[in-house]
Amino acid sequence: MIQSTPPTTGERRAHSSHSPASFGARRGVLAAAKAALSAAAFAACAALSGLAVLSASPAQAQTYPSKPIILVVGFAAGGPTDIVARSLAQSMSKTLGQVVNVDNRPGAGATIAGNLVAKAAPDGYMLFIHHNGMATAPALYRKLPFNPLNDFEFIGQAVDVPMTLIGRADLPANNLTELVAWIKANQQKVNLANAGLGAVSHLCGTLFQQTIATDLTTVPFNGTAPALTALLGGHVDVLCDQTTQTIPHISAGKVKLFGVTTKGRIGALPNTPSLHEQGLRDFEVVVWHGMYAPKGTPKPVIEKLTAALQSALKDPEVAKRMKDLGAEITPVAKQTPEGLRPHLAAEIDKWGKVIRAAGQYAD
Ligand code: ASP
Repeated sequence: MIQSTPPTTGERRAHSSHSPASFGARRGVLAAAKAALSAAAFAACAALSGLAVLSASPAQAQTYPSKPIILVVGFAAGGPTDIVARSLAQSMSKTLGQVVNVDNRPGAGATIAGNLVAKAAPDGYMLFIHHNGMATAPALYRKLPFNPLNDFEFIGQAVDVPMTLIGRADLPANNLTELVAWIKANQQKVNLANAGLGAVSHLCGTLFQQTIATDLTTVPFNGTAPALTALLGGHVDVLCDQTTQTIPHISAGKVKLFGVTTKGRIGALPNTPSLHEQGLRDFEVVVWHGMYAPKGTPKPVIEKLTAALQSALKDPEVAKRMKDLGAEITPVAKQTPEGLRPHLAAEIDKWGKVIRAAGQYAD
């Protein structure tokens, strides 16, 4: 979670707010009422037939899974969410006896992917993995076509991943103090990349700008994989990104590292001071991940998925990979529906207040 001072408006590319379009305004009252009634009737029929046709029956739940499962990621392939998803999917495939395929559906801060899964058949064959963005989306996207708390079943939390503040290799700054000085001296031409509104790279970057009291030009990508490619190519200057993606590039000396976003240091980068330690007081960003299924997925199916998630998180291969990449496995009690739901609810509440107070929306 991002535990520091909330981000505010401030970016040059910040999206302004618009009042929601009023569809009824241009129609006659009668026509609007008729349309609303027929839409409601249609929705009710669709819901009823959906329940009958789409839900897995108890017998189907017993034989679940009998075909490959899709795990949807809302960001580009090769990025941090994708890396976590693929590690878990590979291990869960072993437990479930069916392949779990990762499907990347990037765009609109992963809300396109979220909507796809929210509307999918509740049979356990299409799942969603997402991070803190699941909690910021309801406030950021005021026309969000799904409700994160009501439209999903909860499988469990998975891993917590710190972020790193990195820059292109030829940046003329070798530590945070020099970076901040360089940014302030070159403010007009500094580009800060992110993975779009609602991405943690966006939240972290906003917090960074706010903490150093400097607005920068932000460049959104479909994920931090393409953002990092742009950084490696020298096309953007700075990026806040998860260790699951950045550590190999840091180790190879391909990017400059200016600090980690945990309060203290992390085991995978023991010689790197945190941003907090270097003077950005209380700067703290940790990315949590949850796994979800469409609302109405039968309980026995969810139980199988929770068990498969838990055994993936115990898998020594997954544990080692995650540790090497700076990620921390979530405590077992949180690797459950009962662990994930209240956590998401608390995060929605927290971020809803922050985003509404800032008045900065994605629509
Ligand atoms: N790291 C991205 C973010 O900022 C997501 C991704 O590409 O996995 O949310």
